[in-house]
Amino acid sequence: MKIGVIGGGQLGRMLALAGTPLGMKFVFLDPAHDACAATLGEHIHADYHDHEHLRQLADQVDMVTFEFESVPADTVAFLSQFVPVYPCAESLRIARDRLLEKNLFRSLQIPVAPFAPVDSQTDLEQAVASIGLPAVLKTRTLGYDGKGQKVLRETADVGQAFAELGSVPCILEAFVEFSGEVSLIAVRSRDGISNFYPLVHNTHSNGILRVSIASHQHPLQSLAEQYTAAVLDHLNYVGVMAFEFFEIDGGLKANEIAPRVHNSGHWTIEGAECSQFENHLRAITGLPLGSTAKLGESAMINFIGSVPAISGLAAIADCHVHDYGKAFKEGRKVGHATVRSADSETLRRRLAEIEALMVADK
Ligand code: AMP
Repeated sequence: MKIGVIGGGQLGRMLALAGTPLGMKFVFLDPAHDACAATLGEHIHADYHDHEHLRQLADQVDMVTFEFESVPADTVAFLSQFVPVYPCAESLRIARDRLLEKNLFRSLQIPVAPFAPVDSQTDLEQAVASIGLPAVLKTRTLGYDGKGQKVLRETADVGQAFAELGSVPCILEAFVEFSGEVSLIAVRSRDGISNFYPLVHNTHSNGILRVSIASHQHPLQSLAEQYTAAVLDHLNYVGVMAFEFFEIDGGLKANEIAPRVHNSGHWTIEGAECSQFENHLRAITGLPLGSTAKLGESAMINFIGSVPAISGLAAIADCHVHDYGKAFKEGRKVGHATVRSADSETLRRRLAEIEALMVADK
């Protein structure tokens, strides 16, 4: 089985690391010369709009999947003429546009913070008048890791906000005073069976995920599963999807979905019976899904900018290092580590040991 992957970053790399033992082969299409997945398969070095190279990809693989959601609609439509594409075009269309996404949640009775579309500075002023401050202005498309968004705390922040985000279509969302952020990684098979990993608690800073903890059974697990199943079934989704929620007043408000394997699911490589990467591949290739049960407790920590010295990390018990082989760049995710333990106290101690190495490295 040969899988085409649009994008050749660390998610593509981890897909290949999971699929290679199953006998799968990978072809990545990515415009970057130094795409970090390229060492694990073939690399078609081309732009996402380049029909000639997209056709070349389609001709040599059994199916195509994606490692990011901002794939141009035209790319998906073009590929779909020649080869099965998972997840489907409609899932990508919704997930890459924050307005369509929020409208879908609302139509499925999934709670969301108040929001309004903003296509001009006048729209923004009207939206602020009805939603109030603080609020978050976000570009409808192409936002990730906190990029393409701006928190508006007071009236003085409103004046230039629309222009500062590039005067592109946006949405304004009420600022959610959440008590925590959680995400659910789910996988749905071609015949409509869904499995869910344990809900994980996430910590962000500057809009970038820092730590995900899969520890105790979360009291909101079944509610998160109910909301996620509603979206998966509505889209007739195939593959792994991540659903990010805000935890507030003992309930959940939907933030966003990612129609792909997700950073907050990296812990599943060592911390679950079958990883999110293997389960995504199982789903799209029509294999039975693997168990999503966790093995003890796990925590994943991202390395931003640089990976601490491997000698230090390797000395920490049950610590599993992933260095993506990417060049240094401020704010770039270049690796992660997952620590495991039978109990949460030891887990936190091991996490603190990694954090100390990260500080020492600075
Ligand atoms: P997003 O790209 O929408 O996931 O936003 C990145 C991060 O910004 C989230 O994980 C939150 O920490 C924060 N954030 C986004 N939207 C809101 C909101 N409406 N209220 C409060 N914090 C938010």
